[in-house]
Order: sequence, then structure tokens, then C-alpha cells
Amino acid sequence: MNRTVRRVPRGIGRRAVLEGAAAGLALVAAPRIARGARARVVVVGGGWGGLGAVRGLARKGATELTLVEPHPAFVSCPLSIHYIVGERPFAEFEHGYGAIERLGVRRVAEAAVAIDRDHREVVTASGRLGYDFLILSPGVEYAEEAIAGYAEARAALPVGFRPFEQHAVKALVDRFLAEGGTFLISVPKPPYRCPPAPYERACLIAERMARHGTKGKVVIADANPQPMPPPIARPILEAMRTVHGARIDYLPDHEAKAVDPAKGTLDCGVAEVPFTHANLVLPMRAPKLLRDAGLAERWAVVRLPEFRSQVDDRIWIVGDSAGTPLPKSGHVAFNAGLVVAEAIGRRLDGQPEPQAGPTALPAGICFAAVTSERAIMINVGADFVPGEGAKLRFEVDPAPTRESSEAALNWGRSMWESMLG
Ligand SMILES: Cc1cc2nc3c(=O)[nH]c(=O)nc-3n(C[C@H](O)[C@H](O)[C@H](O)COP(=O)(O)OP(=O)(O)OC[C@H]3O[C@@H](n4cnc5c(N)ncnc54)[C@H](O)[C@@H]3O)c2cc1C
Repeated sequence: MNRTVRRVPRGIGRRAVLEGAAAGLALVAAPRIARGARARVVVVGGGWGGLGAVRGLARKGATELTLVEPHPAFVSCPLSIHYIVGERPFAEFEHGYGAIERLGVRRVAEAAVAIDRDHREVVTASGRLGYDFLILSPGVEYAEEAIAGYAEARAALPVGFRPFEQHAVKALVDRFLAEGGTFLISVPKPPYRCPPAPYERACLIAERMARHGTKGKVVIADANPQPMPPPIARPILEAMRTVHGARIDYLPDHEAKAVDPAKGTLDCGVAEVPFTHANLVLPMRAPKLLRDAGLAERWAVVRLPEFRSQVDDRIWIVGDSAGTPLPKSGHVAFNAGLVVAEAIGRRLDGQPEPQAGPTALPAGICFAAVTSERAIMINVGADFVPGEGAKLRFEVDPAPTRESSEAALNWGRSMWESMLG
């Protein structure tokens, strides 16, 4: 079965990404691994980025591969809005790790609690895992302190921008659809995971209100002057105005500062916004695990185009933890994992490192549904130019289409198959 990512309409192919990356990786010192010994590679995080690395490395026999992931199954954030609004079953978005275990990958069902870089060990509650190479893709952590009052009310205010949080957000949406009122969604300033996702959530909840006859409004308090990322602002604003106009109020330049759930208000500095139900999308950063190990400030400090840590040449960081100009998207994360697997494979094979030069970076693809049947597709191509950095190219549907809505589901299924099929 073909394990590579299949092309999606107007997507940017994996082959180009890998060939481009292969052309431009920087020179790094070869690791000291005894001849004939299998290199120990540990991957922390079994999400999009971690699974890209695992699938890429599992093809190479020269590694003893361990995945550290506490959850028993992968859950997709992309497309999960269709579960949250009650259109599709949760089972579509949840996939067990059986396929990678059958490839001989050892899975440690625990969280990494520390990285001991001096001894090259990942620490879990039950022990230590030695590594020759370490790949980190633990996703994001919420900066709860950015909104005063949030931490005390955390349980009542689920964010739903990490896997495993979708049930709580669905329960919140179900309550709103039954009771009516004001459903408030706040949007932070970028960088945050999947910038179009809050607007998509607003649109699909508004569509459900129409079907359920729910009275009230969805209000978006956006810290930004327009929907993010800027290339999608026009089609998103147009869809919110024309398709959902009566049900969505869009408040630009409203950055959430403090929440009072008892009073039902969000203080945005410029105004106090009332709500009956709230889904606050918090600012995000790399998890504490990386910051404590000296690998990250707000985001992990990596060197493009190879995603290697700037402070430790045995460590690569992919996915949303990495501080790069690339979009925080699952597609980018998975392909970055493949790029890292290729780089480690080359080092193990003793192949010379490619000369530095212009290099294709992992491409991004993202979908923003505006109804259950129409979506906007966003393709992001990127190149790394030595001395200049990453150059991004956006290609965005000028209006939502049925084709992009179908492409979204096909893309998701194809990616999940590539990861865990
Ligand atoms: C609503 C929504 C819609 C989205 N839509 C799209 C889309 O259309 N297209 C797209 O490309 N992207 C989309 N994304 C973005 C995508 O989900 C992320 O970019 C992607 O999940 C990033 O992958 P990751 O590997 O960095 O993190 P994750 O996929 O979150 O995986 C992190 C994994 O690490 C594990 N972990 C965390 N801490 C530890 C630890 N200490 N030890 C061990 N394991 C740990 C977690 O359990 C988790 O399994 C969307 C996101 C959201 C929220």
C-alpha cells in the first residue's frame, strides 16, 4: 500500500518537498554510532509531525524506533468541526496506533516529562529512554495567563484546539443550540494553530442555529484587524456577511484581556462583550517540556530547512512547536516529519550532506468550511533561500466551493491513511 501523501487538488507534492529539502540541508557533524549498531531514534508526540517522522523512519531498517505518546489513539483536529456540530461521528477522526506498532515501532504510552540533553535521555514517569537522535512534535500549550480569570474557569471554557478536547467543545455547542443566547468565540493574534479554524467554527455553528431554530448570535471577538491569515480575509468576511449575516457579529481589534464567566463578560479593552456560552481560543506556545529543556523560548528555535534545533544537533523539532514562518498546519507538520526522517536516514547511511541552496519547504494545505457543503481551500507553498529565509506563496479560493469541501474530506482521509493506515 502506498504510504506517501497523495496529491490533493492544487496541493504541493511531497516529492518536490523532499527533493527540495534534500538539495539544501546544511552540513552537520556525523553522529558517533558503532558500526553495525542500530541508531536509537525517539519520537515524542504521536500527532501529525511525530507520525510523519515515524512513517518516514520506519521505512529505514537502520533505526530502533520508539514513539512516546500517552494517548491510546491519534485524534485529528483538522475536520473535527464536523463532529463538533454533529455532522459526523467521532470515530472518523480517531485512529489507533496499531499500524505503526505492526511496523515494529515501539510505543511507550506515557508522556515525556523532561529531556535530559546531557545524557541524551527522554524522561517519563516510569524511566528513561536513551536516544542517538530525538524528534519532538508535542504540539502546543495554551498561554492561559493571557486572559485574566481563564485559569480559574478552565473547565467551563474548553478551547478545542488540541486533540482530545473536542468532546467538551461539542457539549458546549450542543448546550448553546438547545438554549440559544450569545456564543462568543475569541481569536488571538498569530502565530496560533490553524488560523482559519475559529471563523470556520463560527460559520458552522451559525449554520446549525438556522437548522435548529436556535435564537441568538455567534460573536467573534478578534484580536486582529481582519480574519487570519490575511489572504483569506476577504472570502471569509464575504461568507460571514452573505451566508450567515444575521447570525454572526464580527468584532475586529477586540483582543481578549479578562473573562468573568459568572457575569458572562469578556473584557477586550475597547469593549466588554457579553456572552452566554464562550469558546475562547487562547494564545499558544511550545509546551513547557521544550522550554524547560532550553530548546524553546515562546516557540522552539529551529534551523530551516532541516528543522534541527539551533541549540542541540541531536534534536529536531517539527509540528506546531517549531518557530518557523510556515503555517501551523498538520500538512506542514507531517511533511516536516518526513523531511527529518530523510535527513536522519542520510546521516545513518553515511551519505554526504547536500550543499546549501534554495530549498522547497514543506507545503501547507488548509480548509475553512463556511457551511457543511462549501469550503475555502488555502494552499501555501514555501521556499527557503539561504541568507533570506522562508518565502511563502498563498493560493486561496476566491469564494467557497463544493469542490473544496469534498477535497477537504478526501485530503483528511488520505492523510490519516498515510499516518496510520
Ligand atoms: C480546529 C482545527 C482545524 C485544523 N484544520 C487544519 C487543516 O485543515 N489542515 C491542516 O493542515 N492543519 C489543520 N489544523 C492544524 C493541525 O491540527 C496542527 O497543525 C497539527 O495537529 C500539528 O501537529 P503536531 O504534531 O505539532 O501536534 P499534534 O497533532 O497536536 O500532536 C501532538 C501530540 O503530542 C502528544 N504529546 C503532547 N505532549 C507530550 C509529551 N509530553 N509526551 C509525549 N507526547 C506528548 C499529544 O498527545 C499529541 O498526540 C487544524 C487545527 C485545528 C485546531
